[in-house]
Amino acid sequence: MKSEFDIMIVGGGVVGAALACALKDSGLSIALLDAQSPAIFDPNAEVDLRVFALSYASRRIMQAVGAWETVAAARVSPYREMQVWDAGGKGSIHFDSADVGEPELGYIVENSLLQHALWKQLEGKSQVTLLHPAKPEALTLEDEGASLVLDQGRRLKARLVVAADGAASTTRALAGIGVVSESYGQRAVVAHVQTERPHQATAWQRFLATGPLAFLPLADGRVSVVWSAEEAEAERILALDDAGFCAALTRASEGRLGEVRSTTRRAAFPLQRLRAEQYVRGRFALVGDAAHAVHPLAGQGVNLVLLDAAALAEVISDAHTIGRDIGDLGVLRRYERWRKGDNLAMIFALDGFKRLFSNDIAPLVTLRTAGLRAVDGFTPLKHAFVRRAMGLSGDLPLLAR
Ligand SMILES: Cc1cc2nc3c(=O)[nH]c(=O)nc-3n(C[C@H](O)[C@H](O)[C@H](O)COP(=O)(O)OP(=O)(O)OC[C@H]3O[C@@H](n4cnc5c(N)ncnc54)[C@H](O)[C@@H]3O)c2cc1C
Repeated sequence: MKSEFDIMIVGGGVVGAALACALKDSGLSIALLDAQSPAIFDPNAEVDLRVFALSYASRRIMQAVGAWETVAAARVSPYREMQVWDAGGKGSIHFDSADVGEPELGYIVENSLLQHALWKQLEGKSQVTLLHPAKPEALTLEDEGASLVLDQGRRLKARLVVAADGAASTTRALAGIGVVSESYGQRAVVAHVQTERPHQATAWQRFLATGPLAFLPLADGRVSVVWSAEEAEAERILALDDAGFCAALTRASEGRLGEVRSTTRRAAFPLQRLRAEQYVRGRFALVGDAAHAVHPLAGQGVNLVLLDAAALAEVISDAHTIGRDIGDLGVLRRYERWRKGDNLAMIFALDGFKRLFSNDIAPLVTLRTAGLRAVDGFTPLKHAFVRRAMGLSGDLPLLAR
């Protein structure tokens, strides 16, 4: 079996698989390995509890790598509007795709479907070797190349190793790259629920002092709930029986969609802020949650990771086209300069939002109300926000344009 590659990608989640797809026809040989076999998508099974709000830019990336058709043919829920309001004050804001001349603001898609659609593109590709289940146990980065020893004892060599193995990345640790991380002391409780009134292809978000509550529209008419709450509150929410949970959700959402009538099982994820000290070393790069994790309050996590994948793919392809070494630190620094600033800005902005809205001190509530009203009432600023969140502005990689 082949043991030498141009690129080894560790982690075949959304970012690792998207990177492999973006490079599958570049002429470079790629190994994509994951500790688990890829998600099997069953259109008759219950909707995955981990759903994402994909931006326009993310859809373009999925389209450019050939995976969007599979997603669209399965189940995707476009949303046209977004309603955000503050539980502590009177501020609210309404975004409409028509304001920026687009048919929709974004798409609610399941994690397992995204991953499935991406892996499907890689099957049978002669330049791509898929290895699963496989985990790295040792990593050596040298001027001439990198080598990775897998848990089954197999040794693989490559010119470049990419860590895409999520926020708790083992590969990042093996490369000796540190992180600055902090728990938000919150968990996101997720479930899919049936509401009395239809969701109107709208993403709803209410900022409560204990954390934001989002209702994301699903294709089957239900809404997907992401309810971020302090640890003790999350425990309390999880311990409620179904009727109690539905009643608590109806209250927390102020009954915007009427009564919450039924729910699926619930799950909860701890929330943290994380940033890697560096994104690159010679022969090594970090992408996705391995490089940064953000609060889910604006649903930007997966959009950032797809932009990472597209930017790194572009940097690698450009270097390969002009005959440069793709593992060279100078080449990889272009990717770091490109993505690190954008990702940091988002981490700090979301952090600021989280702090601003988790406080009921009167001057802050007044400031929030004034801020939300100002943005809502000032069309150019509001449009700029929408365009940025949709990924229609900024320094975008080619695959996202
Ligand atoms: C509760 C919650 C809600 C969220 N909601 C949203 C949202 O609404 N919108 C949004 O945009 N984002 C959201 N996110 C963020 C989003 O899930 C992540 O940003 C995104 O999935 C990161 O993708 P990734 O491929 O980097 O990592 P992951 O999805 O974590 O994938 C990592 C992959 O690496 C593999 N792996 C792990 N360890 C190893 C190893 N040692 N060896 C080999 N393989 C390994 C795993 O099996 C997995 O396939 C949410 C996150 C949470 C926790």
